Amino acid sequence: MLQFKPHASPTPADTRATLLENPGFGKVFTDHMVTVRWTADRGWHDGQVRAREPFALDPAAAVFHYAQEIFEGMKAYRTASGEVVLFRPDANARRFVSSAERMAMPALPEEVFLAAVEALVRIDADWIPSSEGSLYLRPFMMATEAFLGVRPAQEYVFCVIACPVGAYFKGGAKPVTVWATDEFSRAAPGGTGAAKCGGNYAASLLAQAEAIRNGCDQVVFLDAAQHRFVEELGGMNVFFVMEDGTLVTPPLSGTILPGITRDCVLTLGRESGLDVQERPYSFAEWQADAASGRLREAFACGTAAVIAAIGEVRSPAGAFQISGGVEGPVTGKLRDQLVGIQRGVVADSHGWVRRVSVEAAAA
Ligand SMILES: *Cc1c(COP(=O)(O)O)cnc(C)c1O
Repeated sequence: MLQFKPHASPTPADTRATLLENPGFGKVFTDHMVTVRWTADRGWHDGQVRAREPFALDPAAAVFHYAQEIFEGMKAYRTASGEVVLFRPDANARRFVSSAERMAMPALPEEVFLAAVEALVRIDADWIPSSEGSLYLRPFMMATEAFLGVRPAQEYVFCVIACPVGAYFKGGAKPVTVWATDEFSRAAPGGTGAAKCGGNYAASLLAQAEAIRNGCDQVVFLDAAQHRFVEELGGMNVFFVMEDGTLVTPPLSGTILPGITRDCVLTLGRESGLDVQERPYSFAEWQADAASGRLREAFACGTAAVIAAIGEVRSPAGAFQISGGVEGPVTGKLRDQLVGIQRGVVADSHGWVRRVSVEAAAA
C-alpha cells in the first residue's frame, strides 16, 4: 500500500557523513518520511514514502486545538555483523493501537505500522550510524480535520520520520539525579498516562523545568491521588534493586506508560534469578531503603537511554543518594545484556530482534 517517491536530491554522502559524526539527539533528520492518511469514509489510504517536508495544515486542524496526537519511539541498529535490525517493533505497533484507542483515534493496522517503519529504514539505511549510535524512529499520528467542534476528528495523518542519534553513554554511563516533584502530577487515574500521547509530555514540561532548576537531570512523578507512590520519570520507567535480590517496579495500573524496555527488564531480571515484583513503592520507602542500605540500586529505562542508573534523588524535603551515587552491578549487567541483544552480540532467545533487509538501498 506504500507508493515510493524517492527524494529528487537527497543529502550528498559527504554532507551526511559530517552530520553523522556527532548527530546528538533529535536534531538531524534523514531525507525521507512515510505518510498514510485516514478519513472516515475511506479508512487508511494514500500511503507514501517520500521526501521529508513540512506539512500544510489548516489552522483549524483538530490537533492544534484538542491535541489528538500520539507517537512512538523506537530504534534501528546496525549489528556487529553489519545487519540492520529493529527491536520489538511489533510491540510498538501494538502500543500505537492502544494509544489510538484511548485518544479516540483510528487504529492503524499493525502490519501498516511495521511496513511504514521498515520502508523508511530501508530507504534511509545509509543514515544508520555504523557503530555505537542508532537510527531513532518517530512514528506519530495527528488529527488533521479542519473543524473546531469537540468530538473525535474524522481525518488523520500517520507519519514516520527518523533521526540518526549518537551513543547515549559516550564517555561512560553517568548516574542521573532525579527531582521528585510534590506539586505536579503526570497522569491521574482514568486519564491518559498509559497512552503515548503528546499531551502527557506537554503536562510534564513544567515539572521537568523545575527539575533542571534544582540541578537535576529528570523529574520523577508520584501518583496523582496521594502523592505517595513512585510512578515513573517524564519519559522512562523506574526500577529498584534490593539487597535481598528483589527487583521492584511500580505496577501498570493505568497511570504508567507500559514501556517496552520495562517489559524487557522484567523478563531479563526474572531469567537472571531476581525476584521480580510489580508493586506500589512509596517515596517514603525509597528514602528509608536508601538510608538503611536495603536499596542497592535504582535505574530508569526507556528506548532512548536504554538503562540509566539513578544516583541521587532530590525533593523539596531534601536529598538522598543511592549506594553512594555510583552505578551498581545489576544495572550495568541488565544494560549490557539488553544492548548486547540489540547489537547482535548476545543471543536473542526471545525473538526480540527483527532483521530488515536493506540490500537494495546498499547496492
Ligand atoms: C515511551 C515512554 C517510556 C518508555 O517506553 P519504551 O517503550 O521503553 O521506550 C516510559 N515512560 C513514558 C512516559 C514514555 O512516554
